[in-house]
Amino acid sequence: MKRRKFLQNASLTGIGVAVGASVLAKNTAKDISSEIVSEATNSPTTFPIVIATWDVPNATNKAGQVLDEGKSALDAIEQGCMAEEADASNQSVGLGGLPDRDGNVTLDACIMNKDGNYGSVVYIQNIVHAISIARKVMEETPHVILAGKGAEKFAVSQGFKRVNLLTEASKKRWEKWKVTSEYKPIINIENHDTIGMLAIDKNGDISGGCTTSGLAFKMAGRVGDSPIIGSGLFIDNKIGGATATGLGEEVLKTVGSFLIVELMRQGRTPQEACEEAILRIVTSNPNFKNFQVGYIALNKKGETGYYSIHERFSTSIYKDGKNENFKSDFYNKT
Ligand code: ASP
Repeated sequence: MKRRKFLQNASLTGIGVAVGASVLAKNTAKDISSEIVSEATNSPTTFPIVIATWDVPNATNKAGQVLDEGKSALDAIEQGCMAEEADASNQSVGLGGLPDRDGNVTLDACIMNKDGNYGSVVYIQNIVHAISIARKVMEETPHVILAGKGAEKFAVSQGFKRVNLLTEASKKRWEKWKVTSEYKPIINIENHDTIGMLAIDKNGDISGGCTTSGLAFKMAGRVGDSPIIGSGLFIDNKIGGATATGLGEEVLKTVGSFLIVELMRQGRTPQEACEEAILRIVTSNPNFKNFQVGYIALNKKGETGYYSIHERFSTSIYKDGKNENFKSDFYNKT
């Protein structure tokens, strides 16, 4: 439904398709002194900006509102991600996430701030706001990752309530899946609301976060890229940030988000860096036609980029007080 609406909007306005690498090469990071132009809208860049994977207007509007109030990118990321985690109709994040093959909803999340600090939870159960626990890990413990029962115990010690995350709708889909129990963790190419989010606040400082229930009907214990620093998310406040969605195993093997930030450090635009990171995957895995990966990136100047293996990836960008969804360019045109 959401995607249909987006496609309609995109065709009506004639905007929304990211510009390919050749065109973007003219608008590179070396062009620092000239007026900054974003790839998505060709309008001058003003801060704050939020960019997130997929069509998640509630999350980006929430984060944008927090930034418009003058709060930090870190606060915006947490609150934006929380909006998606609390939405039971989104079956790939937080409450109502699709369970693993044993029927347990297990969440992965991480957050990274402007000072290069990082916190993460993996395989946490019974807690809606995994992103907030990740922030607590970063701010209240000497560690960077807490897993499973330990993460849940820590969350409860911080005042978070235990909640059954398996909604009736998600349980029904799991029961339907059990009829065939085909173990084929192909990521949904069409639409998937795992949220990776990057924000730059009024001070020009960048933070990011990522939160997911991971692959639907995954093996019990499976952890994806989303909570792993450098893979699902990486921020360097001097350069920019990147985050991922899609088949986590492929993002992990290529340390995708770190790669994108390092490419931007070398002068690539966010768009060029996202395209190169996708190229690394497709050139090393001939099976790429069977899975989706999408990246988004933001640099210190407020330029954005996004790219995926297959069609139908999109990004939500909050800028100048409004949110828009943009269809991403993609690699597999055959
Ligand atoms: N990257 C996530 C994972 O592999 C899933 C997703 O983004 O859709 O767990």
